[in-house]
Amino acid sequence: MKRRYIIPIFLPYAGCKHRCLFCDQVSETGVVQPLSPFQISEYIEKYLSYMPSKAMGKIQVAFYGGTFSGLEPELQEEYLSMVKPFIENGKVGSIRMSTRPDEITPELLKMYKEFKVETIEIGCQSMDDSVLRLNRRGHSSDAVVKAISLCKSYGFETGVHLMTGMYGASRLSDLISAVKIIALKPDTVRIHPTLVLKGASLEALYKKGIYKPPSLEETVKLLADELILFWAREIEVIRIGLYIPPEKYKNVVGGPFHPAIGQMAKGEVYYRLLSDVLNDSSESFTIYASQEFFDTVKGQRNKNLERIKKKIKYIPSLSGDKIIVESGHSKRAITLREWYKVEAIKIRTTIESEYSVNTL
Ligand code: SF4
Repeated sequence: MKRRYIIPIFLPYAGCKHRCLFCDQVSETGVVQPLSPFQISEYIEKYLSYMPSKAMGKIQVAFYGGTFSGLEPELQEEYLSMVKPFIENGKVGSIRMSTRPDEITPELLKMYKEFKVETIEIGCQSMDDSVLRLNRRGHSSDAVVKAISLCKSYGFETGVHLMTGMYGASRLSDLISAVKIIALKPDTVRIHPTLVLKGASLEALYKKGIYKPPSLEETVKLLADELILFWAREIEVIRIGLYIPPEKYKNVVGGPFHPAIGQMAKGEVYYRLLSDVLNDSSESFTIYASQEFFDTVKGQRNKNLERIKKKIKYIPSLSGDKIIVESGHSKRAITLREWYKVEAIKIRTTIESEYSVNTL
């Protein structure tokens, strides 16, 4: 994905016709009152004053937090018109928005083209219709398929929001949802493990013991599987875990919350990689790779190196995603992308053999 600088405009619940079971935008963000179109210019100006000069033209104004395309078209036009002068003067490059799959129409997409909307992020959450129903999403998985293909046919960059551990979901249904989303080839994905937020309808089910969220450990393992599945198909995962400002942590009543859950999931992927590539009886290894690779692979606070319990000598002599592992007399060359592909096949094969479903 192109390097972008984002000016986020949160419009909590704007355009939402009903409330999803797990959602409480105020608990999550602390934003109570959405900005009106008339406040947008000043807000963008203020943000621009903090942006580095190299950001100019690469900035996206992003309408987040609700269902932008569910707003009255006239109101959408008012918001978009406020960004237009910044696009015309070259300071802002384009617009990004988040919305629901059942609120996207060809008419709206035509209007978005005129206002230089480039990216549409679609809240899909799950591809399991019973999970969508239980979570009061109000749309089916079919709507997701149609929305992504419609946005693509108009040339928009598409992003998907996926959740894990929703009410009624299982590890299997989450993995199958990821596989179904991959088949739709979105440009990017955000994965948000379900959190029990104060004020959301899910809170009552949680307190009655009806909703039992998966543990942090189970979630990290599932996220690692999903990361491998997406990376194997070169789909960028741009965020893992809801961003909750520290002063709002108290509003997370339950669920696998950790501010560094994304790093933990990536660390789990790289732990698997290390376990795989260092999988012989030798006790000491030499790894030739890039500095970036080693910084990532050692995990949060060197956790992976502690877990792996092998002596590793590291030589930062390669670039890109190639690594060479040497132990005793053997030498093995690995390309990360190829390794993701092999691991993704293993995950898909496990799903198929354990649950008798076809994922390919
Ligand atoms: S999850 Fe999205 S569509 Fe559902 S209520 Fe929250 S903002 Fe609206």
